[in-house]
Amino acid sequence: MKKRIKDTAVRLLFPARCPGCDSLLSVAEEPGIFCESCRKEIIPIKGRVCFHCGKPIESRLSDLCRDCEMQEGANASEKSVIKPVACRSQDAAPCNGVLQGRGAFVYTGPMKTAMYRFKYSGRRCYARPLARAAVSLYGPWLSSLKADAIIPVPMFKEKERDRGYNQAEVFATELSKLISVPVFSDVLTRTRNTRPQKGLDRENRRKNLKKAFKIKESSVKFECVIIVDDIYTTGTTINEVSAALKEAFGCRVFSFCVCIGVD
Ligand SMILES: [Zn+2]
Ligand SMILES: [Zn+2]
Repeated sequence: MKKRIKDTAVRLLFPARCPGCDSLLSVAEEPGIFCESCRKEIIPIKGRVCFHCGKPIESRLSDLCRDCEMQEGANASEKSVIKPVACRSQDAAPCNGVLQGRGAFVYTGPMKTAMYRFKYSGRRCYARPLARAAVSLYGPWLSSLKADAIIPVPMFKEKERDRGYNQAEVFATELSKLISVPVFSDVLTRTRNTRPQKGLDRENRRKNLKKAFKIKESSVKFECVIIVDDIYTTGTTINEVSAALKEAFGCRVFSFCVCIGVD
């Protein structure tokens, strides 16, 4: 009884908002994360996904998305080895060693506005419902990794100070509570204020982030980490972070993002 009164008081004082349209959720809508009309437009990533990056691949015959297939082809011709699909394993990393990545939602419709507000309009309160939704979709996958650390993609310190928070870290913290894997936010630093990746092609994205991440604290040891970010597009950011982590710790690296962009 007391708990119910407390819950109602909390709800009245801090009414939940729909991350999709920012409207206050009605009591009937509240157990869900999005309002009824946004729920119709949100695309949770379920079903067949790319083995490596987690993009939905419903209509493809391959077990990889087009991007990862191209990447794998390039790597294979470099090494003159073509790995047959049947032999694909978690050791077959296409890029700088991210074994597998997954994401909860397609970056489209209300998720685009949700991510914008989460990032730029101070709506850090979205982190909890987004983490709950992510775990309801990918909880078993996240637990199966048996990771010993979650590492959010760091922001450049001055930029984070201006914004007041790093959305990847806020999301990682909520995710950590749900899957009981600790967050390490101080292991990695962003060495310079890189240009936004948006609008850059793959090559320039890579140049833009080259050596942009550095290990700050190397007294810790990790065997398996999950890099966490808000949006996955081409994987350049995740791959740069992964390269730094692998070089320092020789650990296995996975990634998890709130959203994945599909073309
Ligand atoms: Zn809504
Ligand atoms: Zn892929």
